[in-house]
Amino acid sequence: MKVSFYTLGCKLNFAETSAIGRLFTDKGYTCVEFGEPADVVVINSCTVTAQADKKCRQAIHKAGRISPEALIVVVGCFADLKYGDANGIPGAGLVLGNKDKFAIVEAVQETVFRKQSLCRPRQAAFDPAYSLFDRTRSFLKVQDGCDYHCSYCTIPKVRGHSRNPLISDIVSQANIIASQGIREIVLTGVNVGDFGRSTGESFYRLLCALDSVEGLERIRTGSVEPNLLTDDIIRLIAQSAKLAPHFHLPLQSGCNRILALMARRYRRELFAERVEMIRRHLPLAGIGADVITGFPGETDEDFADSLSFIEHLPLSYLHVFTFSERPGTQAALMSGKVPRRTAEERSKALIALSLRKRHAFYHRHIGQTVSVLFEQKIKSGLMTGFTASYAKVEAPYDASLTGCCTEWRLTGTGASGNLTGEKK
Ligand code: SF4
Repeated sequence: MKVSFYTLGCKLNFAETSAIGRLFTDKGYTCVEFGEPADVVVINSCTVTAQADKKCRQAIHKAGRISPEALIVVVGCFADLKYGDANGIPGAGLVLGNKDKFAIVEAVQETVFRKQSLCRPRQAAFDPAYSLFDRTRSFLKVQDGCDYHCSYCTIPKVRGHSRNPLISDIVSQANIIASQGIREIVLTGVNVGDFGRSTGESFYRLLCALDSVEGLERIRTGSVEPNLLTDDIIRLIAQSAKLAPHFHLPLQSGCNRILALMARRYRRELFAERVEMIRRHLPLAGIGADVITGFPGETDEDFADSLSFIEHLPLSYLHVFTFSERPGTQAALMSGKVPRRTAEERSKALIALSLRKRHAFYHRHIGQTVSVLFEQKIKSGLMTGFTASYAKVEAPYDASLTGCCTEWRLTGTGASGNLTGEKK
């Protein structure tokens, strides 16, 4: 039997698709590329925006066109939040929410034989997952669920309470990943910095333990809520040779009034203080921030306030999202809806700011000698890789350099804006 996979959404979903793929191959299935005929097509869905819902529907239709006889299985967040909708899409043969997705092989076999859908109630557990898609980096799931209640977010509804495995379990998985020759892991989860809540351990302790895994050269911390990024964690990363000086911080707005409406657990002063501490200890660190534009009630003055705050912060780049209303959230009930066009104009302004910040960030690398981990992809004879700080470097393709860290002296930028240099 052939099975193919299509993944939408976050790194956590990618890690989980990889783990689900191994469940199928363990039972004798052959994995094929999405788009090739298959007997089972698994769509690991996302519901973070209305666009993600739409893409899920499109993927179901595409899978049905390519493999009309296939059992199409929709798993993940869209399947969980909109079980009825997903089940009603023509072609979706089996819908499994987050609690059931790791019982997928049994559910598929049951459905194939009984020709019926199934969504069994089950206690939220922690299902381990890590990706082995490419030989360069692996997404390692260390946490799931969230106990926060940000007013725009549906994720806690679909992924349940914050939970994590023991540090010792994660270290075992990191050892398996390292034994496959993969040099970099990215820690993934819904609220990664909340690690330890369910086991009485801490994210700091997890990082200390992973820092000593033999064979790994880089560990990226993934996205950490600013209020959970402690001084200890920043100092540990500054002292470590393996913990990457790369921080992904969800800011969401640089205006305190909007942060309060979003029910975020910090104000901008704390965010600025975290960024400044990182810069003091790690002048070349990559610091990316997520920002949402057009949140209900965001006036022109609020946005100008946010833009000016972000402009003055020593960030390296931004991930900009235009607000997407999710039914069932507090934000969906708020007044002061921002017209789509206004929200998109605000996004454009932030994207332009992000380009300027990234340019300045890359320029600070020129003249430095840094480690680069090149990936296997080739485009126009060039390969690309990343520094530990997450600056992109390009060089003429050389197969011997892929998947290993090599030292490069960075000398400039190419036509695409990526850094260039020479191997030391
Ligand atoms: S921290 Fe907020 S935005 Fe992130 S998953 Fe939890 S509720 Fe959603």
